[in-house]
Amino acid sequence: MVEYLPRSAWNARPPNGGPGNLTVSRVEGAVIHWPGTGSTSVIHTKAAVASALRGWQNYHMDSRGWSDIAYQVAVDQAGRAWTLRGLRTQSGANGNSDLNERYGAILLILVTGEQPTAAMKATTRAVIADFRRIYPRGTAIRPHSAVRPDGTDCPGDAARAAIARGEFTPGHSEDDDMTPAQMQELKNFIEARTQAYALWTHRQLRRDLSAVVKAYALDIKNYERQTDAADAARAAAAVWATAPPSLQVDGSPTQAPEAPDPNVDPAPELPADLEPFPPVDTSAEPPADGAAPAAESAAQ
Ligand SMILES: [Zn+2]
Repeated sequence: MVEYLPRSAWNARPPNGGPGNLTVSRVEGAVIHWPGTGSTSVIHTKAAVASALRGWQNYHMDSRGWSDIAYQVAVDQAGRAWTLRGLRTQSGANGNSDLNERYGAILLILVTGEQPTAAMKATTRAVIADFRRIYPRGTAIRPHSAVRPDGTDCPGDAARAAIARGEFTPGHSEDDDMTPAQMQELKNFIEARTQAYALWTHRQLRRDLSAVVKAYALDIKNYERQTDAADAARAAAAVWATAPPSLQVDGSPTQAPEAPDPNVDPAPELPADLEPFPPVDTSAEPPADGAAPAAESAAQ
């Protein structure tokens, strides 16, 4: 429930007769207005708002000949709600009597280029919630420009955009409306999510990196194996090319013969069944010069 400032708060004149109360079953919703001052001079203080309301009442009653200020309720940038005609009385603001019977009229104290504050939006949502309690079928929330047949800029671009975003709809929540405890809860939640995400990224990255390293090491091993085999084949081909033609098969050996390794292979052993050396005749006389044949041959 909203605390409404009474008419006495803005020193209102009493109304001249008037259209009386709205018919509950006919009401479709609330129309949002602004004063359309054409000025950028803000109207923020309680005294400034009260003075402006008196001025508009005078204009509506004295110049337009209406029964009272045209709107039902006003809401200012400080979030104050002001009783004008009141939510039960039919307004004179919407453009014709049919529209005035189908819609309520809420005045936002906004000037050209001004954004509605969070306080103004919160109070307006509460006023509309009160409106809906009185008029259960009156759930629509329309900018004046959406219903007035002759067209109007009312309630200005900022309020029109806010209506479109649902910021005047009861139940709408904004960051501005959060309590410090709710803000802290949201902050904790975001921080926890951020940490979890960082951890997940770290793990994922490590897993991916180790997979890449393993694949790379395997590639290197395969490459080495292949180059070793290729090198060995080239070396064998080079040796084979120098072999005598009798050993060559079609001139292009496919297999190199196994070369014995003198360092490893044992010395060939003589077969056991070879004939023994012939006996040496040791009775023969040595040569006349007395030199031993072995020594002689060694000297040559
Ligand atoms: Zn309007």
